[in-house]
Amino acid sequence: MDYDVIVVGGGAAGLMAAVTAAARGRRVLLLEKMDQAGRKLRITGKGRCNLTNTNPLRDTLPHIGSSTAGSTNKPGQSGGVWLRNAYGRFFNQELMQWFEEHGVELTVERGNRVYPASGKALDIFLALIGELENNPNVTIRKNATVIRVETGERKTENGECERFVTAVILQGGERITCRHIILATGGLSYPTTGSTGAGYRMAAELGHTIVEPVPALVPLKCDERIPDDLVGFTLKNVQLDIADRTTGTTIFKSALGELTFTDDGLGGPISISASRAASRPLHSSNQANGQPGNLTAILDLKPALSAEQLDRRLLADIDQNGTRIFNDALRLWLPAELIPLALKQLHIEYYKRLHQITGDERRRLCRWLKGVEFTITGTRDWNEAIVTQGGVSLAEVNPKTMESRLVKGLYLAGELLDLDADTGGYNLQIAFSTGHAAGEAV
Ligand SMILES: Cc1cc2nc3c(=O)[nH]c(=O)nc-3n(C[C@H](O)[C@H](O)[C@H](O)COP(=O)(O)OP(=O)(O)OC[C@H]3O[C@@H](n4cnc5c(N)ncnc54)[C@H](O)[C@@H]3O)c2cc1C
Repeated sequence: MDYDVIVVGGGAAGLMAAVTAAARGRRVLLLEKMDQAGRKLRITGKGRCNLTNTNPLRDTLPHIGSSTAGSTNKPGQSGGVWLRNAYGRFFNQELMQWFEEHGVELTVERGNRVYPASGKALDIFLALIGELENNPNVTIRKNATVIRVETGERKTENGECERFVTAVILQGGERITCRHIILATGGLSYPTTGSTGAGYRMAAELGHTIVEPVPALVPLKCDERIPDDLVGFTLKNVQLDIADRTTGTTIFKSALGELTFTDDGLGGPISISASRAASRPLHSSNQANGQPGNLTAILDLKPALSAEQLDRRLLADIDQNGTRIFNDALRLWLPAELIPLALKQLHIEYYKRLHQITGDERRRLCRWLKGVEFTITGTRDWNEAIVTQGGVSLAEVNPKTMESRLVKGLYLAGELLDLDADTGGYNLQIAFSTGHAAGEAV
């Protein structure tokens, strides 16, 4: 037996798994296909690494989704419940303590987001890799791509047939034997960092069910042409809903936040958050009828006012500014950049004076300010998706140990699993906690 444990993938999950297993005296081989480990980790949080969030467990769980966690919770939000056991042993405080004990000072910012005080994601990576490099039980190999997990079969004490891992096969044919394999190859987002979905293929070859991966935390594309002057413009304190026109339901409601117009749709924090609800219905292969979801983004430009309050305000403003031309008066209610879009969509003559605006037209303006509609046609691609939604079905993974229920000695951790979360440090915490659980179990 060459090693006790082979960790496949040197991202957040794989590094933490290797650190944890090695600290328990296991002989660990970490295999990373790129020329450097932790490429994605080093660009997280715009290079600052939002490694976790100090929210307590109960406030964290609703931020995490999965379609296979099998909980009674709301569909798509049950990932947190599945993680309860792993989080019970290694959660935000334990993670922060680990980094502080390894010389990384941390700071908590707006929204309880935790960053290294240096502002450098690199420090998070260096703490982890430094720990591995200093441990004689650990071998790290870069430019080492695993293409297959080899398994054997044996009879258990009660006569059942059991499959177990025996080795990994590298590109080029090299075979390395081991007792345990932790697959931590990430998802499909930002493929230039090394996560190109190889783990899904290897897990599927071993019999695992893969929930179709779709890009998430990614800008939305829409059908409407975004006027040139609006591209790159950011609205603050607005609110975004996503409605499914087929079922007549609202599938997402954002908090107040920022939205940035892009040349093909909607970006910025609230649109990116909305993509977690919108992405799967937009991918036609997931639709029973083969049609992509019929989704509309509804942008509330005046979320602080009810429709009635806004209408009263419009009435008062129209009263006081009766001689102003509509085109110019729109500045009373909108930033200048939005006026061309308003004129295009409202069908109200731009040269009218406000006292000529009819009751119907005023109500139309009110409705528009409370809900500018965009037909969502898709999302940007994997190169811009912060995470992958979907992955190895949680029904086939033991939530205490991350061990496969199908193959003995195989463990799965990180973004490879069917788990994804909102921005705010929740995704890295998933990677660190599942990596830790696997490292503790091997
Ligand atoms: C731009 C960006 C910013 C982000 N910022 C944040 C943030 O601030 N906070 C947060 O919580 N989350 C953030 N995320 C999400 C977070 O980075 C991921 O969820 C997390 O890194 C997943 O960790 P992982 O170890 O599962 O996968 P990865 O980090 O993708 O690591 C997988 C590793 O496996 C290697 N690998 C793949 N296939 C093989 C193979 N066949 N053989 C050997 N090695 C292989 C890859 O090269 C890679 O190094 C961000 C993501 C992106 C893209």
